[in-house]
Amino acid sequence: MRRISIFGATGSIGQNTLDLIRRNPDDYDVVALTGAQNIPQLIKDAKELRANVAVTSDQTRLAELRDGLAGSGIDVAAGDAALIDAAARPADWIMSAIVGAAGLRPGLEALKHGTVLALANKESLVTAGPLLMGEAKRLGATVLPVDSEHSAVFQALIGEDIKSVERIIITASGGALRDHPLTALDSVTVDEASNHPNWDMGQRITIDSASMFNKAMELIETKEFFGVKPEEIETIIHPESLIHALVGFRDGALMAHVGPPDMRHAIGFALNWPDRKDLPVQRLDLAQIGQLNFRAPDLARYPALAIAQKVMEAGGLTGAVFNAAKERALDGFLAGACSFTDMARIVSRVVDVMLSKEGLQNATITLDSVREADAMARALTGEEIAKQES
Ligand code: NAD
Ligand code: MG
Repeated sequence: MRRISIFGATGSIGQNTLDLIRRNPDDYDVVALTGAQNIPQLIKDAKELRANVAVTSDQTRLAELRDGLAGSGIDVAAGDAALIDAAARPADWIMSAIVGAAGLRPGLEALKHGTVLALANKESLVTAGPLLMGEAKRLGATVLPVDSEHSAVFQALIGEDIKSVERIIITASGGALRDHPLTALDSVTVDEASNHPNWDMGQRITIDSASMFNKAMELIETKEFFGVKPEEIETIIHPESLIHALVGFRDGALMAHVGPPDMRHAIGFALNWPDRKDLPVQRLDLAQIGQLNFRAPDLARYPALAIAQKVMEAGGLTGAVFNAAKERALDGFLAGACSFTDMARIVSRVVDVMLSKEGLQNATITLDSVREADAMARALTGEEIAKQES
């Protein structure tokens, strides 16, 4: 039996992971399940899968969790420290699927067991890629990508030498507003931005897909995970979301990973790695699909892509600043405090201001320095949002 823990179990990735676990419950011993808000779901899953511990990051929900699991023999805990404790419980496979920068610390803690860390939380790599990957190497742990594009690249690289790679092409659907008139983007509502054409995901990543901030994060994630140069990473719009990424080799060959837009493929690949096992995903009928389309991304529509280029070139703590500014700007958009297009303008300004003043580029990446850069960037972003309101 493999001991597994799922951080962010109540979310979209977490629930897809549990869907796979449920199909072979006898293969897994569930150690920890965590969630923030959806406590009824956490209670139900912890009972059904007989988890050892259920944790909510939200202290105010502890009583509800404790009541729901009373008499079950399942440990309960709440708060950020409890999340770290849960990550310290030995497990063979840990899913990191908390959304946002909050996913970094539990992931780092999990590496200490030399375990397999299945990484959906791209924010860990964007904010602290060298720290996370460096710790994994030092501790002999394995990090496997769960983001569909990065899982695709990882699969295309099996048996290959990264030195023979010339470029990595990350595909992007273009998101909910791909065909929205450019001049009308400023007045887009939260609902309009929350409607992804191909993927069913959490709300924050869905809006990040519409603004292409998600793709911007993924470009940085590619650089950090695979150790390639910024100029070797490209983005292409591919509306069907069937090719998830392509790897271009020195001899001109392009290896494409093709599959249905179902996160259970990338999750299941990481779960079964290094083997491949049956997964309950749709088999594509290429004759019925007929054609696949591609086009270059329009930088006027997707300014986030240009910001990502700048962040990758600057390096250091710039990723932590970028991620924090993006998370804070999204909070502002969700709260109606800034517009859809304000988000990129504000994030761009915050990155520029912090790059001009703070010597971010050469800073050492530690948990403390990341936390400090994150806090400064959030504060500055808050100020910029307030300027929009006044
Ligand atoms: P989601 O919002 O559906 O779920 C997030 C999970 O994190 C929930 O369990 C929530 O309760 C928990 N959470 C939220 N804030 C927290 C906090 N401060 N502390 C602890 N836990 C907290 O998000 P999702 O779409 O499942 O995405 C999870 C991660 O996976 C993100 O990093 C996202 O970018 C990445 N990802 C998601 C998809 C997808 O298809 N959903 C695809 C690729 C990558
Ligand atoms: Mg992705």
